[in-house]
Amino acid sequence: MSALSLVKRPRSRRLALLLAVLAFLPLTPAQAAPPELPDQIAAAWRTDHLYVDAAMRQGFPQAELARIRAAASSAGFPVYVALIPRTPYTRQDQLDLPTLLQARVGEPGLYLVWTASDGYWSGTEKLVRPGGLRGRSLIRVQLDDKLDNKIVTDRPAPKIVRTIQQAGTAYDGRPLPEIPVSDLTPELIRGRSTSEKEELSGYVGMGIGGLIGFVFVLTRVLRRRRRPARPAAGPKSPATVDHRLASVRTQADRWIPKAGRALRSFEKRRNLTAEQLDLRDDATARLAAARTLRAGASADDRADDQASGSTGDRKAGTPDILALTGAFVLARQAFQLVSGNDLQPPCFFDPTHPSGTHRAAWSDDIEVPACKTCAQTVERGKTPHGLQVKAKTGLFGSGFVPYWNLDPDESPMVATGFGALSDDLAERVTRVYGGVR
Ligand SMILES: [Zn+2]
Repeated sequence: MSALSLVKRPRSRRLALLLAVLAFLPLTPAQAAPPELPDQIAAAWRTDHLYVDAAMRQGFPQAELARIRAAASSAGFPVYVALIPRTPYTRQDQLDLPTLLQARVGEPGLYLVWTASDGYWSGTEKLVRPGGLRGRSLIRVQLDDKLDNKIVTDRPAPKIVRTIQQAGTAYDGRPLPEIPVSDLTPELIRGRSTSEKEELSGYVGMGIGGLIGFVFVLTRVLRRRRRPARPAAGPKSPATVDHRLASVRTQADRWIPKAGRALRSFEKRRNLTAEQLDLRDDATARLAAARTLRAGASADDRADDQASGSTGDRKAGTPDILALTGAFVLARQAFQLVSGNDLQPPCFFDPTHPSGTHRAAWSDDIEVPACKTCAQTVERGKTPHGLQVKAKTGLFGSGFVPYWNLDPDESPMVATGFGALSDDLAERVTRVYGGVR
C-alpha cells in the first residue's frame, strides 16, 4: 500500500530529529502552574502578543519565535500566542485556556495556546470574529487542509504558522498558502522525485490533495485501531440494542423534518446570493441523503418485523444503526447550513454526540474532529467508547465493537467516519444507495 508506506515513521529517525531541536525544553517542567496563569498571560500580552513561559524562555530558538511573529503580523487580525509547558494545570479537563484568555483580553482575534510535553507540541486555538462577521468555521478549514496532519510537531512554529493561515482562510476566504516542504514530516517526502516534492506542497492550496489526504487518513485511522481487541463492554442484551436503535431513530426523525422546515424557509428568501444558493444546494443534498438512509433503515425495520422471533441476531441491526446515525448527522448538517450556523463535522468517535468542534490527536500524527468529552478522553490517553456496533462473527468474535472496526468498504458511513474524515458522505450515500424515494 503506497499510502501506508508514505506515512510509516521510523521512531529512531524521529527521535534524532527531536533531540536536535528540543534541547531548549526544560528538563523538569514546573509541576503545577499557578492558578493565575491566565492573568499572567493576559497581562504579558499587553506588551507582546507572543508569550513564552518563563521556564522555557532561556535558549528558546529565536528563529521559531521570529516565524510566529511574522505570520501573526501579516494575518490582518489580532493574533495572541502563548507557549507554555504542559503541566497538570494545563492538562485539566475543563480548562479551555483560549476561551479564558479571550475573556480577559476582550478583543476579537485568534487565540493560540501551545504546550510542549515529551518533545511534542500541541495546541488549542479559538478564533473570535468581530460582531456580525461570519465565515467558514476554523475546524472545517483545518479538516479540508489535507496535509495538516503531516506538519511536524517537534517544534512549535510550523503548526502555529499553519493555524494562523487557516484562521485567515476561515476569516475571509483567502486561499491557503502552500506548506513549506521543510515543515512536513520527512517520511512523507522521502523517496519522491523533486518534481513530486514541489507538487506536494502545491496540493494544499490547489485543493487537489483530496486523494492523498483522504487515503492517508482512512487507512491510518481505520486500520490503526483495528486490532483484535476484546469487544468493548457495550450494550449486550437485545433490550439495550433496541433502546439504542430507538434513540438514534428518534434523533433522525426529529432532525430530518427540522432541517426540511429550515430549508423551506431559507428557500423562500428573496434574492439569494450565489453563496446562499450554494448553501441551499449543499443542504438539499445532505437532507436527501439523510432521507435515503432513513428510508433504507425503515425497510430493514420491516424485514425485522417479518422475521421477528427467528433471527435474534438481525436485531443487532448494525446496518440500521449506521444508517440511522448517518441520517441524523446529515440532517443536522443540513440544518446548520440553512440556519446561519457553521457547518460542523460530527464527533468521529460517536456521531450521535454533539458536533466535533474539538480536535483530538488520536495518535502522533492523526487528528480527528471530536466532541469536547471525547477530545478530553483522548487527551487523557484513552480511546473513547465510540459508537458500538455488532461485530462480524469471526473477525472479532461476537459482541460489540466501535464502528471504526468495520470494513470501510462495506459502508460509506464507516469509510468517511460519518463525514468526520472526509466531507463527502452525502455524495457517497447517493452513489451507493441511490436517490431519495
Ligand atoms: Zn464524542
